Amino acid sequence: MSDTPRPVALVTGGSRGIGRSVVEALARDGYDVALCYRSRTQEALLAAKAAHEHGARTLTGRVEVTDREQVRAFVAETEDTLGPVETLVTAAGIVRDSNLATLTDADWDAVVGTNLDGTYNFARAVVFPMMKRRRGTVITLSSIAARGQAGQTNYSASKAGIIGFTKALAKECGRAGLRANTVAPGFIRTDMTGQLPEKYATNMTRNIPLGRFGEPEEVAELVAFLASGRASYITGQVFSIDGGLVV
Ligand code: NAP
Repeated sequence: MSDTPRPVALVTGGSRGIGRSVVEALARDGYDVALCYRSRTQEALLAAKAAHEHGARTLTGRVEVTDREQVRAFVAETEDTLGPVETLVTAAGIVRDSNLATLTDADWDAVVGTNLDGTYNFARAVVFPMMKRRRGTVITLSSIAARGQAGQTNYSASKAGIIGFTKALAKECGRAGLRANTVAPGFIRTDMTGQLPEKYATNMTRNIPLGRFGEPEEVAELVAFLASGRASYITGQVFSIDGGLVV
């Protein structure tokens, strides 16, 4: 085994779904991986085990992404244990769907807080050290819903906000050697879309040119590419990965 230290990636929402697949893809690509999650410790430990099998060192933390103290503490623990964070992937996210007329304040706050504030909280905690080292990549998770999805004003707003945030970050930090990009998935087969009514999912599938939902591993491949040196001249972009749904 080589003595060259592996770069370090930090993945939020790493216990399940897209984040879980990103953890494994980055471990396969040679990263040590810190992953955090909200409550599903068993799933997070399985994600870490899969990363270990690719030779990665891992750190697993139960971190509420809306809690800035917890976020800062986890970033500090990552840097102490694994080393400086080179790649941040913010995959933690939730939906709480309802038409605006009946949306509760709690569901607005939870979705915008988790998706948008959670993204800010982690990026804010890693970006200055990245700038000092003149090295770093931030990959955020938006959604095709950023274009505005009925029944998802809260989710759409959070995901559109993530795009603006990431583009601004790319413009601010490019000269400091940082890249920031957004991945905007369509319908991906995870617990999140598992909540959709079957009839709705069937109707949606008819509109997808590739005729199926995507797999989390397919999104993880795009994230892994954007994290890598192969994407060294790509920043400030939004990449749809949706089987052609938004064409
Ligand atoms: P998922 O399977 O439901 O997993 C969500 C992940 O986020 C879990 O690891 C969960 O931790 C974590 N999480 C949720 N709230 C959190 C909080 N407050 N603090 C810390 N961690 C929290 O979701 P997914 O489908 O993989 O989605 C991943 C990202 O892609 C999300 O941002 C989502 O909006 C976006 N996206 C997904 C789709 C899709 O079709 N699936 C489409 C477009 C965009 P626990 O396991 O501990 O609960």
